Amino acid sequence: MIVMLEPDSPESVVSAVLKVASQYKGVTPRAHVMEGAEYTVTEVYLLGSTAQVPTEPFEQIPGVRQVVRVSQKYRVIGRHKGQVASSGFDYNGVTFDEKTVQLFAGLCAVDNRENVDTMMAALAKCGIKTTRMGAYKPRTNPYEFQGLGAACLPWVFESAGKHGIKVIAMEVTHPRHIDEIRDALERSGNATGVMLQVGTRNAQNFELLKSIGQQRAFPVLFKRGMGITLEESLNACEYVASEGNPKIVFCLRGVKTHLGDPHRNMVDFAHVPVVRRLTRMPVCVDPSHAIGQAAAPPDGLPDIFHAIGQGLIAGASMVLVDFHPQPEAALCDGPQALRLHQLPALQNYTRIIREAYLAGVKNGDGSKDAAS
Ligand code: PEP
Ligand code: MN
Repeated sequence: MIVMLEPDSPESVVSAVLKVASQYKGVTPRAHVMEGAEYTVTEVYLLGSTAQVPTEPFEQIPGVRQVVRVSQKYRVIGRHKGQVASSGFDYNGVTFDEKTVQLFAGLCAVDNRENVDTMMAALAKCGIKTTRMGAYKPRTNPYEFQGLGAACLPWVFESAGKHGIKVIAMEVTHPRHIDEIRDALERSGNATGVMLQVGTRNAQNFELLKSIGQQRAFPVLFKRGMGITLEESLNACEYVASEGNPKIVFCLRGVKTHLGDPHRNMVDFAHVPVVRRLTRMPVCVDPSHAIGQAAAPPDGLPDIFHAIGQGLIAGASMVLVDFHPQPEAALCDGPQALRLHQLPALQNYTRIIREAYLAGVKNGDGSKDAAS
């Protein structure tokens, strides 16, 4: 059962709800606070056996907007009856929701200071405040470059601060990495912010998911598992959210099947509207790991641009894309890295397709005309 409070409700309303909830045995209440750009919404989740718990005592509390019985899955991340708004959030001055498009362009793997600084400078020149930088790389082959780990964090954060980069998407593969990132950020004087990325290979690493869910300092970018169903990936996000951290962006990045050849994975961006219908999470697409190559057809736009277009036209509001100042020298995923001169064009392309999406939404599907 979910007890939804009016926006910006004071703490006293939460306490009143918790007090009523404490009268019912076997029910564990948990308050979730969603800080949006315009207001903060608090929802109290009653976990456990709530079948016999009446809704009226909660509905009578002044400040309670609605009480919903949740029978479906995805209690926290799900889009339940009466929940219209997405679970967007602000983090370090950047808005993540379904209304704002964020472009996370950057290095798949941090390799040296010069490339990090060149990348950050290129972003700053375009007015982009978000990037991706991999320090901990989960590689299929143990003899391949595994990432520079904690050692590179001080100068990555310093460079981000210097260029005004506000959020770095960074994969973590072990709970220890969260502490390393927190420590390094503190030592940098919080020069930037980090969005913790759960990679596709860890989509069902439940202990990692719980650790990420138990901290509230960093939001989460969850990558869909490449060989599991969408439902299983959404359940994995519910692990994070049910532990206390609902600030999750869901990222589609293609699924593994040879039917996607010659692309690295099969592009699954038709699932963007499905995720938005079933849950309230903002949706991201990663065309780089889906496509796996920077090649272009005769129209001159790389397959990666076309895949970004597919994601945006379907309603994605975040794009994660690999760039490298010198793709042929990259230590990880060079073949799919775009070049820095393609960044302004990509930014423009993103704007064009987003406008087409908004025009499409405005046009509607004809239902409104049919009803009038
Ligand atoms: C990445 O983004 O660098 C990455 C490893 O992606 P994925 O987990 O989707 O393969
Ligand atoms: Mn990669």
